[in-house]
Amino acid sequence: MSYFDLNTGLTWEDATVRDTVYQFAKEVVRPVTRELDRMTAQQMIASGSPLYDLYAKSYQLGYHKMLFPESLGGPGFTPLQKAIFIEEMAWGSFGFSVGLGVAPMPFYFLLGTGKQELIEEFVVPFLNCTDGSIRGCWGITEPNHGTDAAHVEDPLLSQPGVKGDVRGRIDGDYLVINGQKSAWVSGATVATHAIIHLQVDDSMGLAGSGIAFMPLNLPGISKGAPLEKLGQRDLNQGELFFDDVRIPMSWLLLGPDMYKMAISMVLAHANLNMAISSTGLARAAFDESFKWAKGRVQGGKVLIEHDSMKQRLFTMFARVETCRALSRSVANFNFDNPAPATEYSIAAKITATELCYQNAHDAIQIHGGYGLTREYLSEKLFRDARAALIEDGTTETLAKKGGYYLMDTYPRLNKL
Ligand SMILES: Cc1cc2nc3c(=O)[nH]c(=O)nc-3n(C[C@H](O)[C@H](O)[C@H](O)COP(=O)(O)OP(=O)(O)OC[C@H]3O[C@@H](n4cnc5c(N)ncnc54)[C@H](O)[C@@H]3O)c2cc1C
Repeated sequence: MSYFDLNTGLTWEDATVRDTVYQFAKEVVRPVTRELDRMTAQQMIASGSPLYDLYAKSYQLGYHKMLFPESLGGPGFTPLQKAIFIEEMAWGSFGFSVGLGVAPMPFYFLLGTGKQELIEEFVVPFLNCTDGSIRGCWGITEPNHGTDAAHVEDPLLSQPGVKGDVRGRIDGDYLVINGQKSAWVSGATVATHAIIHLQVDDSMGLAGSGIAFMPLNLPGISKGAPLEKLGQRDLNQGELFFDDVRIPMSWLLLGPDMYKMAISMVLAHANLNMAISSTGLARAAFDESFKWAKGRVQGGKVLIEHDSMKQRLFTMFARVETCRALSRSVANFNFDNPAPATEYSIAAKITATELCYQNAHDAIQIHGGYGLTREYLSEKLFRDARAALIEDGTTETLAKKGGYYLMDTYPRLNKL
């Protein structure tokens, strides 16, 4: 097995999760997603696409309910096992791992509200779904609010009159929604349900927002064309449009009073997922480089026998272990924690996506010209890793956001 891990502290159950998901990632996810990567965005979501079969196989194994408790049919994974699961899936494909990660998001969010009637109506069918046909997405990014959408603490953005692109107006027991989410919503074109960030009180600017749950087959909801992009092409993306969409007020899961806290919670989990997924991709890049260096002869011997190549591979190996050590320690603290330390998830995301990108870059260099061709996986890994530097917040603006949290927590915890 191609696996780099000190294995310290892994129980038999942890190792079983790792080995089972690794086999699935290697034998199913990897080949299918390489095929998806070569299709147009439209072909990838057309009926009969292997994408749907991949979802179905994943759901049959219960991989859509990894985060859910045992009492609801989830596997009851420990935080470490969740991290192992995500790393293995992302080793197979970063893009599909994200697609499978956002699919449960609206349902997981709904579960957290404890609204029993809605849980029965929406969460239970999702958990029981075995054909992959119920899929969620998370819409925060807007055409005019990318980074802004997650930075509502910024006084400039919370001023009266700062308008969101998606707004909700209360009409009796209903919320009437108008506007547009940007084409960056992962899985939107193939999703059946969503959680949507939307402005409900523009006297507070973007801070006057809330989060609503909704099925996407309501009158007034339409979808844009799937997005063509450089990396993570095996992850569908597209716009959502809202034209006088009426939802019951009970589907507004939280409003402005809880919005800043909700953004922090969402980032704590989304950024942590990114960090763990980057560990998987950094490892995939290392694996490809190692295999190549063992087979390619230059200067009279296989590449791996050159001292400088040993040094280059060692640097890549050290990056994988750094990503894993950081992301797993944050996972242990932040998964299943009602008060996660968001700045740690941000630190892990920034560090792991940067190191993962360096490994993907080095993998191409070690393959030489072959690394640039579609025939070799390193080319896809490089494109996928590049996207992760922007996904769920750019490195630069997340650092700013992390700094904001740090100024609050660090002096308090360290009595400075
Ligand atoms: C693969 C992928 C998957 C994604 N999935 C989802 C999803 O599921 N749901 C969703 O809603 N969104 C999703 N996104 C959107 C993602 O969160 C945004 O792309 C990201 O937050 C950046 O926003 P933007 O692209 O509008 O860039 P902008 O915010 O326009 O930023 C452009 C540049 O300006 C810089 N910048 C921005 N603001 C400031 C500032 N205040 N000060 C200094 N510099 C600044 C940025 O660092 C960047 O370099 C996804 C994106 C990608 C790439």
